[in-house]
Amino acid sequence: MTTINFENQVVIVTGAGGGLGRAYALELARRGAAVVVNDLGGNVEGGSGSSAMATQVVAEIRQQGGRAIASCDSVSTEAGAKAIVDTALETFGRLDAVINNAGNMRLSSLAEGCAEDLQSLLAVHLFGSYFVTRAAWPVMQRQQYGRVLFTASSAGLFGNQGQGFYGTAKAAVFGLMNTFAIEGESQGILCNAILPFASSRMTEHAMQGMDEEYLKRTMPVFASLKNSTQPEFTAGLATYLVSNVCRSTHGLYSSCGGRMARAFVGVTRGWQGSREVAPDAETIAEHFAEITALDTEGFSVPQSPSDELKQVLMAKS
Ligand code: NAD
Repeated sequence: MTTINFENQVVIVTGAGGGLGRAYALELARRGAAVVVNDLGGNVEGGSGSSAMATQVVAEIRQQGGRAIASCDSVSTEAGAKAIVDTALETFGRLDAVINNAGNMRLSSLAEGCAEDLQSLLAVHLFGSYFVTRAAWPVMQRQQYGRVLFTASSAGLFGNQGQGFYGTAKAAVFGLMNTFAIEGESQGILCNAILPFASSRMTEHAMQGMDEEYLKRTMPVFASLKNSTQPEFTAGLATYLVSNVCRSTHGLYSSCGGRMARAFVGVTRGWQGSREVAPDAETIAEHFAEITALDTEGFSVPQSPSDELKQVLMAKS
């Protein structure tokens, strides 16, 4: 079995003051990484801030003999993101990997929520992931090496009650990863995204957005997953994906109740119409069952729009 270590490597973990980020930071430090423990230290909705959360995790890492520095800058501004990257470079002299994990949560149905909620979620999840990655990018380009892990969510990829705005921001993070992965691959910068599932203050808060019927169905499932919902159960996957043995890029991975799996957006075999005559709505209706069918053998996972076009051209008409 390959041993994975982070000796002489520097990793930024955003939102590492608690929950999943804290588990990642502790695990990376245990394996030799010098870690920038970034956390705004605010409430779950993203308001206010304090240095207590980040400094507490740094103290834990140092107590265990590891190397870490606290950063309390917000990921959601360009200046904050630059300061986080500068902290890594000024304190430890290099930067090898970034885990974009910081996140906030605001609950409401899409019908009742307000634009300010959506903006607040986009600011942390989407702009935060973009700003921090953008600030780290030139460093990684210069050294022709880097690992970036983005945090998406099944609430975005599949949808979830009370989390429409949150899910929208998380789905956008998946979009961001797709193209950073394409732009980074030839320069040794590998980008992936994770769909975690873990008990944290955020999941406790999210429960408040569920109706009673949903909770009745969900709580027993949650309880039966027992320990495997602890953040530590996701730390192994996150650690692997930002390590120098990882070769995956442009991937989306789910960690849920101890099961690790690839998730993907794919295209079914579908129905191939004429390449000369445009199909009308009636023809679509006629073939809709074929268009919709989840043919588990015929699907493909395009890596770009041109990849999808190539696959269509290669299919028999
Ligand atoms: P958490 O609330 O414990 O962690 C999020 C951390 O991000 C907090 O410590 C918070 O202070 C920090 N943060 C918020 N805004 C910030 C900002 N502007 N700058 C810097 N730090 C900021 O929740 P968690 O469950 O550990 O979530 C970690 C990540 O995983 C989040 O992106 C979340 O959306 C995502 N996620 C979690 C789950 C889950 O099941 N827990 C599922 C899917 C996705």
